[in-house]
This record gives sequence, C-alpha cells and structure tokens, in this order.
Amino acid sequence: MNEEGLKNVLSAEDEREILAWAREYARIHHWTLNPDEKRLMVVIRGLARNRKKYGEKYCPCRLRSGDPEKDRDIICPCVFHGDEIKERGSCHCQLYFDTPDTGKTNTP
Ligand code: SF4
Repeated sequence: MNEEGLKNVLSAEDEREILAWAREYARIHHWTLNPDEKRLMVVIRGLARNRKKYGEKYCPCRLRSGDPEKDRDIICPCVFHGDEIKERGSCHCQLYFDTPDTGKTNTP
C-alpha cells in the first residue's frame, strides 16, 4: 500500500478519538450529538477521514477549496455552526444539536 493509501486507512481508534472530542465539545456547549447513530457515525467517519487525509478535521458536508487559508473556516467546529444551531437547531452536518428541551425542529 502506498503512503496515500495508508493515510486513507481509518482505524477504529481514529473514529473513537473524534467521537470523544465531539462529545466533549457538545457537552461544554450544552448541546447533544445526533441521536441517530448511523448519521452520527457517517459524520464522525468523514471528519476522521479528512483529518487523516488532509491533516485537519474539515467538515465532511462542505466542499474544500484546496486553499488552506480559505478552508480554515470549515475545520470542525466550523465558523458557521453556532449560528446554524441557533437558527435551525443543528449544524449543517447534523452533528451538533441544540438541547432537546428547546422545542426546535431540525431540518436538513
Ligand atoms: S457543520 Fe457541523 S460537522 Fe460540519 S464542520 Fe460545522 S460543526 Fe462540524
């Protein structure tokens, strides 16, 4: 396997690490992670893959430009997530959700 191939191989540990980080970030902000385990793990895997491949946890739901300066905005937690959670109840990827007792609905 070439170096690029190796970088793309994700271990369970990579995913666990990102999940633990996301849980802690959500806890600090009094948010929750997506209760849909499948959807949650798609995003976690995407973040882990991007970190392995590009060195940063780029948002898996947004397009990278390839310019590290511009793409800084979409390193998770992206610059948009706070407003998105306030306005729609969840971030674009539906990783972070406002606490369930706010009565907000979450539309993709
Ligand atoms: S949309 Fe959500 S998952 Fe994507 S970078 Fe922003 S906070 Fe992270």
